[in-house]
Amino acid sequence: MSYLVLARKYRPQRFEDVVRQEHITRALGNAVTSGRLAHAILLSGPRGTGKTTIARILAKCVNCETGPTATPCNKCRSCREITKGHAADVFEIDGASNNKVDNVRELRDNANYMPAHSPYKIYIIDEVHMLSDSAFNALLKILEEPPAHVKFFFATTEPNKIPITILSRCQRHDCRRIDIDAIIAHMTSLCQKENIQISADGLTVIAREADGSIRDALSLLDLIITSATGDIGIDQIVDVLGGLDRQSLFEISGGVFEGNTGKIIDTIDRLYERGQHMMKLFSEVLAHFRNLLVVKIGGNARTLADVSEYEQKAMQEQVKNVSATYINQILDMLFKEENNIKQSTQPKLAVEIAFIRILQIRPALSMDTLIEKIDTLQKSFAETISSGNVFTPDIRPDAIYSKSQKKTPDAIEPDSMNPPPVEVASTPAPEESNGPSYLPPSSDKNKTDDSGVKESDPAGTFKAPLKTDQPSPETNEPIADSWHQILKIISGNHQALAACFAKSKLTNITNTHLEVSFKANQFNINYANRKNNRSILTAACCDYFGKELKVSLKPELLNTNGHKANKKEKKRLEQDALNHPLVEEAIKLFKAKVVDIKIL
Ligand SMILES: [Zn+2]
Repeated sequence: MSYLVLARKYRPQRFEDVVRQEHITRALGNAVTSGRLAHAILLSGPRGTGKTTIARILAKCVNCETGPTATPCNKCRSCREITKGHAADVFEIDGASNNKVDNVRELRDNANYMPAHSPYKIYIIDEVHMLSDSAFNALLKILEEPPAHVKFFFATTEPNKIPITILSRCQRHDCRRIDIDAIIAHMTSLCQKENIQISADGLTVIAREADGSIRDALSLLDLIITSATGDIGIDQIVDVLGGLDRQSLFEISGGVFEGNTGKIIDTIDRLYERGQHMMKLFSEVLAHFRNLLVVKIGGNARTLADVSEYEQKAMQEQVKNVSATYINQILDMLFKEENNIKQSTQPKLAVEIAFIRILQIRPALSMDTLIEKIDTLQKSFAETISSGNVFTPDIRPDAIYSKSQKKTPDAIEPDSMNPPPVEVASTPAPEESNGPSYLPPSSDKNKTDDSGVKESDPAGTFKAPLKTDQPSPETNEPIADSWHQILKIISGNHQALAACFAKSKLTNITNTHLEVSFKANQFNINYANRKNNRSILTAACCDYFGKELKVSLKPELLNTNGHKANKKEKKRLEQDALNHPLVEEAIKLFKAKVVDIKIL
């Protein structure tokens, strides 16, 4: 008894059995039943996706004794002959080995004769792109004026190699690459029919190795069934395929995230001993990190990267506490190292070194995290000081104010860190003591519209996380002062946000509405407009006025056109940027150095 390989044994004999090509089978089925089937059909697509299978079924549809029909009987003489591959009127020609002009001429002569016993003579030419130019020319002749009893079904993996003259005379259908889930589902149903026990992980490894081809998947499955005994586990599959189990990839990525060099080297060692090709391993690792990034940024990795469902869950778990920026950094490094490994005479060593280098990079922080960190740090520092645990130098509001008049950054920093909480702790009526010290800057601001002095004033003002009495919306306080109080509330926990409003003022207050106009650069405008920050602002206003108010921001972009601005202006802007409290804190916090300033 001869053994039929799975791919042949379970070759689809009806359109509905074809995996994942419904768009083609439906169109062709309709064309057959409505009598509008073109005389030349071109099926293109990757290998093993069902092109010749569809062509054969289509031949049955056309020549079935019950037809033309979209559901051939598979019982009549014609159907049975096509299934067995020796139908008198269906010619399967391999384009690769019959690519000469004489082969096509012969075909052309033969095509003029009527079919033996079927309605149509059908020529299925596989890998049609392999025909020579003269062969294509000869074929063109018959495609231009085909006999009524002839149909051509072409299959190709490279439609781009087919001359346009031929393409334009064919109805083209593109077969999809089969996704991993469909391949797994197909293999699972075959395994049930064949009574083979094989784990889901194992099927995933096979499906991945098949790379979108059902035929390859079934060939590999055959290989494994014949090589292994009993219940087939992942280890046996990996042994047989010599491939890479997904678990190892997760171990490597886990090692990178944990900073565990030993774990990575052990995994590479194990794979190397198993015969894993190092370059292939590296490519797989690259693809794996790319998938991790897709998962992290919320993409559908299953459709984007052929990842099975359980694997996607594992990926989500693994990147839960890892930032997308860091994964991006790793990917960058992997891409940089790729060439080194390709060119290395010791690829294993090169792969190990690549990972050691990757572990040396420190995760970069996103801008949001950075701002958050600075705010938290400032807050905790201020709290420490106000609790009296730290010696505080004698910095009185007056001193701060006079300092802030001189130079912006100096004023901002000590200000923001130290004195206000001390004031709160020591003075029973903080608002009174505040009033005078904060009012002058605001009035000053109205007068001078200059950068340094003006920016420092409100910034200095916002520093103080002072408790204020909550006035009603119908407060008698001047508008400017109300706004300063609101900014004080914001600066309590969100100094960076308060700093965005350095050049802002409240332009209108109604019973339901606040209107704030502020001049800022694009970064500050964007930052202030973030959903979170808008909520913080609204909450602070509600807090201050004691009722829900709608806040509308009217930002005005500072004139920062770097190209047109003269040198002096550019210099001033750069100085502004350097003096920005956020930048200064960042420099301090990370012991950093400003390398470049870009004017946006
Ligand atoms: Zn039939």
